[in-house]
Amino acid sequence: MAPKPDYDVIVVGAGFGGPVAAHGCASAGLDTLMLEKSVTPGDKVVSGLAIPFYAFLFGPAFIRDGNPPLERPIRKVVNHFIKGGETYATDKSLWLPPPFCLTYTAYCTPMCTWLADRATEAGAELRTRTAAVDVIMEGGKVKGVVTDQGEELRARVVIDAAGTQDGLALKAGLRKKLPPEAIELYMLWDYAMDKKDVDSTFGNSVEFFCAMPEEKITAPLGYGSTFYIFVYRESIHPGLGQFLVTEGKIPQVANLLEEYFQNFTSTVRRWRDDIAPKLELRAKMFDVCPIYAGLDRKVREMPVYGDGMLIIGDAAAMESAAFGDGVPNAWFSAAIAAEVATQAVRSKDTSAAALREYDRRVKAHGIISRSLSDTRRWDMRWALPGNDEREMRRRAHELFGRGVWRYRHITGQVLNEMKTVLARDPMVMAKWLSMFNRFNRNCETGYSDPLTDYGPAI
Ligand SMILES: Cc1cc2nc3c(=O)[nH]c(=O)nc-3n(C[C@H](O)[C@H](O)[C@H](O)COP(=O)(O)OP(=O)(O)OC[C@H]3O[C@@H](n4cnc5c(N)ncnc54)[C@H](O)[C@@H]3O)c2cc1C
Repeated sequence: MAPKPDYDVIVVGAGFGGPVAAHGCASAGLDTLMLEKSVTPGDKVVSGLAIPFYAFLFGPAFIRDGNPPLERPIRKVVNHFIKGGETYATDKSLWLPPPFCLTYTAYCTPMCTWLADRATEAGAELRTRTAAVDVIMEGGKVKGVVTDQGEELRARVVIDAAGTQDGLALKAGLRKKLPPEAIELYMLWDYAMDKKDVDSTFGNSVEFFCAMPEEKITAPLGYGSTFYIFVYRESIHPGLGQFLVTEGKIPQVANLLEEYFQNFTSTVRRWRDDIAPKLELRAKMFDVCPIYAGLDRKVREMPVYGDGMLIIGDAAAMESAAFGDGVPNAWFSAAIAAEVATQAVRSKDTSAAALREYDRRVKAHGIISRSLSDTRRWDMRWALPGNDEREMRRRAHELFGRGVWRYRHITGQVLNEMKTVLARDPMVMAKWLSMFNRFNRNCETGYSDPLTDYGPAI
């Protein structure tokens, strides 16, 4: 007789998606374990990012109803176009008035810790410093995981929330490695800046810088070829990215990014005069992100479920290409995975046939599939070599300017998802409004729910 499972559900990874999946399963009464290889949830994600407003509108209610550690509401995107170090045009057309905002910036460690705390409050068990290094397979079915401490942990369903280039789904034979063409290397710099300086220099804006390749201030074929500055409460992140392989060429990515950063910081007057004098460098970070993975049809065709396993968020290459909005897709897919896993465990059928419902719902989601196949950021690359500045400005406007609100870009997706959510609960409109007001107040005062201290790294 097969051994009894230790858990109903094991969630691997406590980044952005894992805690949402664990919260859903534990709230439904399932015996749920969450494994996280780092000391503190979110440690191994990126340093900081921006979470688009629709993640909060359509994500799980516990996030909307709480006080997560958000840094700053971003109401405006400023696109600077640079020539010879000077700004020769600026597009400030994408903005929203208070209390609304386009996105909230957040640091990953406190944000993921906050999410993991909510999951443990709901009854999930969390083990940090524990990596799942293999899957237990029996008769072609996933039956649990093996940890780096050699422990065999069994479960009826394993939810793989282990993020980018994850090995578990590969080991289960469900997915293949991402092609290097789908991977971009980022470099981010984390600078401390007084709150009053962030307020007066940026306010509630993020800034993007676009330039033709000869300026050598943005990587020629990366990240929509923009240099960006995200702002937090008392710090900023400038960053840029570059594909590992582009049109068959393999650039020296790390050197290239350093060179472009040096050129940017020494020549662009906005940085040199307005920003640099107020900064103190805290850290420099590299990271990889499968930023266009979803645009690759072969990647989109890889399964997101199997016998005894569901794959969510970045592990399922749901990092969306349009805005780098992987967090919304991780939250949405995690919430669906929790509901499907709960149903499967209750009906005692965790076969691939029963879990296929997850695939159906992910594909039917108003935002996930559309955002994955959005090619605007990808298309931005074609504005550079051999193209003219007007074309670059047109595409940038479409990507980070008011063009975003076109029905086919974002408005249609948001309205469709809104219809679904409002049909379930018309009162949610009032909750959204009070959420915006509360989050704005909290960002201003620095208030958030107290976080569990998982202790320093040993
Ligand atoms: C530079 C950069 C900038 C980005 N900017 C944005 C942005 O502005 N907005 C946005 O929405 N998205 C952004 N993203 C994408 C976003 O970070 C991801 O889409 C999101 O974190 C995905 O959530 P996830 O839960 O699927 O994976 P993750 O958040 O990566 O979580 C995976 C977790 O699993 C853990 N783990 C991995 N393997 C194991 C294992 N074997 N055992 C146990 N634990 C394991 C990791 O430590 C990690 O905590 C950015 C990504 C990068 C790299």
